[in-house]
Amino acid sequence: MKRADRFIEEYRKLGMTPELHFKATCPKCGERPQFVEPNTFYREMECCHCGHSFPFVKGGFSAMFTITGKKHLNDLQASESNDKVKQ
Ligand SMILES: [Zn+2]
Repeated sequence: MKRADRFIEEYRKLGMTPELHFKATCPKCGERPQFVEPNTFYREMECCHCGHSFPFVKGGFSAMFTITGKKHLNDLQASESNDKVKQ
């Protein structure tokens, strides 16, 4: 997935390590199961809601962030308070 690769790369530049969990819509029950392992997807997906297996052809992803280093955390807090001033 090119889109996901770019997404990860952009955040790595900022010193953040995103964890992407790929997900797709189950054709049987319509739920949105996701793969448990971060930054990984398989050709086959098993729905955690109904147990139905289906090929993973296209889907989205949700991101969780692991922020490494205290400096980056401080930077984030600083930019957050800047945003509040602007409003
Ligand atoms: Zn299902």
